Amino acid sequence: MNVYKFGGASVKDADGVKNLFKIINTQRENLIIVVSAMGKMTDAFEVLCNAYFNKTGGTGEALQHIKEFHRQIICELFGEKSGEVEAACDKLYAELQRILDGEPSLSYDYEYDQIISFGELLSTTIVAAYLERQGRKAKFIDIRKCLITDQNYRNACVNMELSQQLCQRTFTFQDTFMYITQGFIAGTTTNQTTTLGREGSDYTAALLANLLDAEEVTIWKDVPGIMNADPKLYENTEIINKLSYKEAIELSNCGAKVIHPKTIKPLQNKGIPLYVRSFLYPESHGSVIRELDEKLKLPPIYIDKGNQLLLTLSPRDFSFIAEEKLSHIFATLAKYRLRLNLIQISAISFSFCIDLNESIFNPFISELQKEFEVLYNKNVRMLTIRHYTEEAIERMTAGKKIYVEQRSRLTARFVIADDIQTAKN
Ligand code: ASP
Ligand code: MG
Repeated sequence: MNVYKFGGASVKDADGVKNLFKIINTQRENLIIVVSAMGKMTDAFEVLCNAYFNKTGGTGEALQHIKEFHRQIICELFGEKSGEVEAACDKLYAELQRILDGEPSLSYDYEYDQIISFGELLSTTIVAAYLERQGRKAKFIDIRKCLITDQNYRNACVNMELSQQLCQRTFTFQDTFMYITQGFIAGTTTNQTTTLGREGSDYTAALLANLLDAEEVTIWKDVPGIMNADPKLYENTEIINKLSYKEAIELSNCGAKVIHPKTIKPLQNKGIPLYVRSFLYPESHGSVIRELDEKLKLPPIYIDKGNQLLLTLSPRDFSFIAEEKLSHIFATLAKYRLRLNLIQISAISFSFCIDLNESIFNPFISELQKEFEVLYNKNVRMLTIRHYTEEAIERMTAGKKIYVEQRSRLTARFVIADDIQTAKN
């Protein structure tokens, strides 16, 4: 059994859905198709959710935009015969409307998951209907019934044991050899909807593969495979044909966008290979991430993570940055759900980089200021060069203002001023 994951970019319009059909139509093995929300719909649902939760008005327009986007795709895919799929979508819109007509609870994260999940519910409803119309029926599964998590909304943690039982009971392949289901979303034991973190559909595909002992997972993307740099930012990028799990987890942790960082563990644990292939050129091989015996000689890999916040904290009384102070800093980071991208420590200061999140910036800084003197720099990016060469470092950092520099055996990292929108590689 294989798992195919199609992200938002692969189903951003009617042609994308037709292309998905062409790709799955060549499959002869048992298959689970995991689909994300179409195009940029998750962002659109975030706008809707914010308008609803903050009562700022504009829910009507936001919802209209979402409906219009899907209507256009349905219209191109089904023409006159769109009655049934439109009715199915209308049912989802009615459910969504019931939420929007009510008062929001006090938990933003809870409301977020209840609303945002409609992106995936709509996309899978439309894709499933289209496959059926093309004569390739895939059984529709509401993943919220079998991928069970805790109630940590927006970043829920999966109960693997319970999910395994439920998934094995659901994906039996007895009366079908193809299923379609949602990425990114899940459910609790009390039937609440949860999500696994933005861009989490890759993770869903990996979880299902683990729970059901799949042979392989393929993520269909708009890039030809795993590249040594983001082709949207750099010229002369090259494709990396194979990578070990370890290398892949390091890369995604440094901010490589090609796969979600949580994706690797469930696959590594069961030795399931992950293919990254282009939905634009489905005949080409792409890249594979798997257990590798041989040591690979890899070219320098560049990961450019923008929108960073660099902070330096120093205790006000000139005392050392000792464990107690550090644990206080870590607790504050955890409270705001911030992930450290880089840390540097000295006797009386602690510097670190996190993703800049304006919505919590002020309260977060104020809290730190209670105990520390806080210096920060908002306009920075973090450049990682894995498998660096001196030449690569020289070329990438020449003339740049460098705030922090770190080198280990394999990785060089730089926090630099944010002025390299179109750096040349
Ligand atoms: N639709 C979700 C998002 O955009 C999940 C995903 O695409 O993987 O974050
Ligand atoms: Mg998406």
